[in-house]
Amino acid sequence: MSSTMKAVRLTAVGQPLQMQEIARPAVGPLEVLVQVAAAGICHSDAHYRAGVSPVHPLPLTLGHEVSGVVAEVGELTTGWQPGDRVCLHYLATCGQCDYCRRGAEQFCTSGQMIGKHRDGGYAQFIVAPAASLFPLPDEIPFEQGAVMMCSSATALHALRKGRLAAGESVAIFGVGGLGMSAIQLARALGALRVLAVDLDAGRLALAERLGALPVRAARTDSPSGDCQSCADEIHCLNAGRGVDVALDFVSVPATLRPAIASLAPFGRVVAVGLGDQPVPIYPYQELINREAEIIGCSDHLASEIPLLTELVRRGSLDLAPVVTEVIPLDAAAINAALDRLQRYGAGGVRTVIRV
Ligand SMILES: [Zn+2]
Ligand SMILES: [Zn+2]
Repeated sequence: MSSTMKAVRLTAVGQPLQMQEIARPAVGPLEVLVQVAAAGICHSDAHYRAGVSPVHPLPLTLGHEVSGVVAEVGELTTGWQPGDRVCLHYLATCGQCDYCRRGAEQFCTSGQMIGKHRDGGYAQFIVAPAASLFPLPDEIPFEQGAVMMCSSATALHALRKGRLAAGESVAIFGVGGLGMSAIQLARALGALRVLAVDLDAGRLALAERLGALPVRAARTDSPSGDCQSCADEIHCLNAGRGVDVALDFVSVPATLRPAIASLAPFGRVVAVGLGDQPVPIYPYQELINREAEIIGCSDHLASEIPLLTELVRRGSLDLAPVVTEVIPLDAAAINAALDRLQRYGAGGVRTVIRV
């Protein structure tokens, strides 16, 4: 094996990524070297390149949606063999801190995200803690194994934060990449009825094909959101009652207002989108009188990955329509994909680098 490798890296914020020939990373005792097979290009990566959210230290290899094959195993690591197919949990965590010990490792006090705080998967190899590796079954192509590790994992975490029980109803606000996974996962977890709310007719048509009842949202600039007509339509489509769980993948007033208004008694709203505007709430009518809950959702947990993998393996979550483009490990092709994300957003589709 050569001692160097190709990696496509962020060298300066606001500049195109560059292909560099760098040293193949050394493997620590509790780490594994993975030969990257596929790496998804995420909307977050466009934010990292643009400097919208900070990446350090530079230069850094981007890519947090990674699958591949074990190449080398650290001397104190057990359970992995060269050649094993794997996908990587994107948070490298310490396993020792208070949050890690109680199974909330997304708040690890020294956690590092691959492709943001440590080198990621836009490269021929990546080194990761052995605890970040999960087996990737033969039935799941590497491309799908990569994209599964970000938006799908977060969609599953959102449904779990909402404590969705079989027989309940779910409304999903914003059906881009996360929403498309959430529709299928909600059905796999036994949701009786799934409603998809979006402005875009094309996304709603895909949501309907995946088994959701489409609700066309009205575009509104009202800061309080045009909630009543949307909530009324949800009630109407949901047999005259509110929904038990509402997932908001946008989390701006125009989505969070109707999400709250559409709840049944004991309903739970899960806010996932990175909204930063204040949202008015009527405590008595909307929360107290229904014992409703508003829940935040951040990232996902390693413990959720085996369930997610099994649902993809069984075909309950079909990611084939999500992988819309496959490109080589090439800086120009990757920058072009990031340019498109920056201009148009993700829209439920993914470009995947096949290394
Ligand atoms: Zn991502
Ligand atoms: Zn920790």
